[in-house]
Amino acid sequence: MTMFDLTGRVAVVTGGNGGIGLGMARGLAAAGARVVVAARNAVKAEAAVAELGAQSAFIALDVADESSCRAVIDQTEKRFGRLDILVNNAGTSIRKPPETYIAAEWHAVLDTNLTGAFLCSQAAHPVMKRSGGGKIINIGSMFALFGSAYAAPYAASKGALVQLTKSLAAAWATDNIQVNAVLPGWIDTELTRDARQQVAGLHERVLARTPAGRWGVPKDLAGIAVFLASPASDFITGAAIPVDGGFSAMG
Ligand code: NDP
Repeated sequence: MTMFDLTGRVAVVTGGNGGIGLGMARGLAAAGARVVVAARNAVKAEAAVAELGAQSAFIALDVADESSCRAVIDQTEKRFGRLDILVNNAGTSIRKPPETYIAAEWHAVLDTNLTGAFLCSQAAHPVMKRSGGGKIINIGSMFALFGSAYAAPYAASKGALVQLTKSLAAAWATDNIQVNAVLPGWIDTELTRDARQQVAGLHERVLARTPAGRWGVPKDLAGIAVFLASPASDFITGAAIPVDGGFSAMG
């Protein structure tokens, strides 16, 4: 359907080599986009690219490093001639009681989840503007809405990412760049497999607390990625959309 057609579009997905990022990358590629998988782990990234097809590419990225954020956008434009879609998905967490974090741990989480998204967006802005517009999709979390007793820097970073989304949306609307956030519920990935091991009773609590009665899977994020990357969402900007099986709807 034309409204959701991404043929000829170029997308960068940070952390697109696995989990939610790969789920979104699969959706974008299926809709016709050429996808740059931007991540650190080259083995996972090459496997993702092999699956996504000849139109896709791996470009190494450490999103916690400012020059690397700028380089990935620069290399994408050099290689593909344009950039239409940026998915700021790379993310990390360190789980422990808030009183036990050292400053370096706080910064590691904030640099990856928040500052990296800002720097990649900042680098993408002139490239998108030159070609008449673009789409930026930031991956938040239920912890942008709710507090977390065992992941304070993660929750702080995701809450701030929603405010960053609104700020960039307001600033760049007249450049025809739409900036939106997706707030996934509990999705079965490497990140949450670690969490399930580290947080007693988490698996059962997620099942009981999610109205859909199941964990999400990366494929559940493919549709929202295509929607927010496509002309179908051209008048939607600054929104934070839950994809959570009803988790945030239930008190
Ligand atoms: P994964 O652990 O599978 O994916 C995390 C991704 O982030 C990896 O691809 C990893 O790439 C990348 N990444 C981490 N640090 C960096 C870095 N410094 N530079 C570049 N890439 C980096 O977990 P998810 O798929 O679950 O997480 C994806 C996003 O979704 C995150 O932002 C997370 O916070 C968010 N999210 C996840 C939820 C869930 O339930 N799973 C719920 C809500 C939000 P590499 O392998 O190269 O390190």
